[in-house]
Amino acid sequence: MKDFWRLPLAELTERAREAVQAVHGNTVTYVVNRNANFTRVCQVGCAFCGFGRRPGTVGATSDTIDQVVARVAKTPWVTEVCLQGGIDPNLSPDYYFDLVRALRSAFPRVHLHAFSPMEIDSLCEKAGQEPEEMVVRLRAAGVGSIPGTAAEVLVNRVRRKISRNKLPAERWIRVVRAAHLAGLRSSATIMFGHVETWDDIRAHFEVLRRIQGETGGFTEFVPLAFVPYENRLGKMLAQRHGGMARLEMRIRRRARRLYPLARLSLGDLIPNLQTSWVKLGVEGAAESLDWGCNDFGGTLYEESITRSSGGRHGERLEPEAIEAAIRRAGRIPRRRTTLYGVVKNPFSLGKKSCQPSPEGHFAL
Ligand code: SF4
Repeated sequence: MKDFWRLPLAELTERAREAVQAVHGNTVTYVVNRNANFTRVCQVGCAFCGFGRRPGTVGATSDTIDQVVARVAKTPWVTEVCLQGGIDPNLSPDYYFDLVRALRSAFPRVHLHAFSPMEIDSLCEKAGQEPEEMVVRLRAAGVGSIPGTAAEVLVNRVRRKISRNKLPAERWIRVVRAAHLAGLRSSATIMFGHVETWDDIRAHFEVLRRIQGETGGFTEFVPLAFVPYENRLGKMLAQRHGGMARLEMRIRRRARRLYPLARLSLGDLIPNLQTSWVKLGVEGAAESLDWGCNDFGGTLYEESITRSSGGRHGERLEPEAIEAAIRRAGRIPRRRTTLYGVVKNPFSLGKKSCQPSPEGHFAL
């Protein structure tokens, strides 16, 4: 990769701003979506996670399919539902497929963005199938794309320190590659601001470039700042770095440099760089539009994973609030579909009128 890695921050940011302007102009997109986190039961025990609950412990509950459908029915205007949960050893593969089919049947026009590579890996293990077969089955059941979460940092030395029971980097790559080749696009993520070095971040970017060069399946890159307040890793790092306030500052400094580096390192292959109001706050996310981002993420309506780690920026953001933040940053908001298509009647935010045409699957 090129030598912009060593540029002073002001120059790096300017280069990223020019790069994003050249591709996207002043337009900043966002999606009207909701999360549905269907189980908090998780046997994996990642040190950075405040959401998962060990089986049999307080709060270790899974929703019935009817409960998930009823929650989604509270926001019938969304164009995407993102399904993710813990790794519950007692949820059978049938549960996942029945959940997808039930949502498909109740909300036929909604795009299902479902199941992280970690969840798909666990489904493979439970069903005795290879990732290449499992992603084809998921697509046939009605999944439209998959979240590229559980990537953390795709360097096994780092993964062993922060989530030693998680799928290894090679397995994440295999699942994502299989999904892309089966016609399911995915996001790409990184979780930063903990024990990783800049070399690890660089290695992570190189892995993403290799996959994208082969499949073209990533829709966007989403950097996720580590939220340190209510988890083991945060407490340990706060001690190491002289307190929570100093750790927060360290994460913020890392974010400030990582976004422009992501724009310059990946933008030629993955043109969409998504900020995160959940991690940075609304004003922080608006500020990051000057660091190379061109997408504001989504409305979410049910953000519980970051809040469980002590995230302080709420669980939902209405489209009007997202558009106002984008305008305050001097940009032009535009609603999009999950796969960055155009939404019909984008500014008629009368909520009942926000259903776009169904999206086709990604064809290679
Ligand atoms: S991050 Fe996911 S896999 Fe890890 S403990 Fe939390 S819910 Fe489980």
